[in-house]
Amino acid sequence: MTATSPSQATQYPDTRLLIDNQWQDAADGRTLDVLNPATGQAIGRVAHAAQADLDKALAAAQRGFERWRATSSVERQKIMRQAAALLRERADHIAALMTMEQGKPLAEARVEALSCANMIDWFADEGRRVYGRIVPGANLASQQMVLKQPIGPVAAFTPWNFPLNQVTRKLGPALATGCSFLCKAPEETPASPAALLQCFVDAGLPEGVVGLVYGDPAQISDYLIASPVIRFVTFTGSTPVGKQLAAKAGAQMKKVVMELGGHAPVIVAEDADVALAVKAVAMAKFRNAGQVCIAPTRFLVHESLARDFQDAFVAHCESLKLGNGLAEDTKLGPLANARRVQAMERIVADVQAKGGEVVTGGRRVGEAGNFFAPTLVLQPAMDSLLFNEEPFGPIAGLRTFTSLDEAIAEANRLDYGLAAYAFTRSFKNVHTLAEQVQVGMLWINQPATPSAELPFGGVKDSGLGTEGGHEALEEHLISKAVAVTGI
Ligand code: NAD
Repeated sequence: MTATSPSQATQYPDTRLLIDNQWQDAADGRTLDVLNPATGQAIGRVAHAAQADLDKALAAAQRGFERWRATSSVERQKIMRQAAALLRERADHIAALMTMEQGKPLAEARVEALSCANMIDWFADEGRRVYGRIVPGANLASQQMVLKQPIGPVAAFTPWNFPLNQVTRKLGPALATGCSFLCKAPEETPASPAALLQCFVDAGLPEGVVGLVYGDPAQISDYLIASPVIRFVTFTGSTPVGKQLAAKAGAQMKKVVMELGGHAPVIVAEDADVALAVKAVAMAKFRNAGQVCIAPTRFLVHESLARDFQDAFVAHCESLKLGNGLAEDTKLGPLANARRVQAMERIVADVQAKGGEVVTGGRRVGEAGNFFAPTLVLQPAMDSLLFNEEPFGPIAGLRTFTSLDEAIAEANRLDYGLAAYAFTRSFKNVHTLAEQVQVGMLWINQPATPSAELPFGGVKDSGLGTEGGHEALEEHLISKAVAVTGI
């Protein structure tokens, strides 16, 4: 493992709550430690909101909504684009903060920051394309209109794996449609989301349009979801928590977008380009140390290609440089928290006990920090944890198949339905896969390319609604029917 270069040392700040464009301590002064996952050391503190802070943040979000919905889409676009420009200028600094609090390699953190700037631009522009409709009816004397109006203040709950991206995916469509946005960002990775929202404040966003709180996730979500101010609830995280929050929002008749867990299959068909498949899948598997909801986990490889695939994939795993994300040559950083290392150890013990063969990795690396070796398991049992529960870490399992139908049945076996990958040279296979694989996102012959302009979301237990494309804006809009007869 490599040490942190002193020249890259960035001062890690304490993070406070953002209410009415002011950074403030919690009303009762409470804070939590923030740890660096590469060292296990505390590097800063984050304010822990009390109920009084949430009340202030909600009142600010209500006022912010009234201001922002009355702002033209041209002006909104201008402010959002200015925030994106500031984010680009500050990308190196924000990336360093993200690496220090989350662990991912600096290069990945930079890409995340810059791609968020692009995403904000896209949503800023798309906000100009929110159109209503004039709809002809039976009575020619009556004009029928559909007005598109912002749904109201949004409560967003975002996780620690992509501290910036997960906020941006929710913030972009909310701001583009005229909603205000109150976010509970992750306590583990607070400084980079705070730096993101600072770009919006500096770009001239009116007070109250964005707010940022941290604290006890369950207490905050209970309180915000129950508040009459909040009209829309959006969450990214695990399926069990998503189901709880969606049920609470449903009881209040509030709309939700839920972006939950995944367990992506990769189908490598008999006619696939194996080198391309390994390159694309390895990149997707180990990005962010596998802590990605769209990361591939079930490698389903035609039996005639399995050995070639295995050899190339193992060679890739063994070439990855593990280390502190701040070191430029690191390709795989630590897991974001100690819980994930324990989860990896549990998955490996389970799969081995059930007859799976660990051909590379399978163990923690080093004493300090949350490092885990990239791992491939051959023929994991169908009832192993690895083949049933989202690992959210650098572990994959490989099973062989003989017919495409068999592979598609396995791909669809789980309740998850977020992402899938496939490799084939046959148009017929492409058509069959596109029709039959039950997911929200399918990438064929390429790595994952989630973008602002395409829907991003899952089916079945992987979620509800979408965070990309014009559809993401639609999620935040009320379609109001107005019929007017001349008098
Ligand atoms: P977790 O389920 O406890 O938490 C996941 C996220 O949800 C965290 O950000 C947490 O702060 C938040 N959360 C938890 N309970 C909440 C509540 N009642 N109200 C509001 N927010 C709440 O698990 P974890 O240990 O942090 O992560 C483990 C699992 O979470 C992973 O295995 C993965 O399945 C899932 N996860 C998914 C994503 C994703 O991108 N879809 C991101 C992070 C975690």
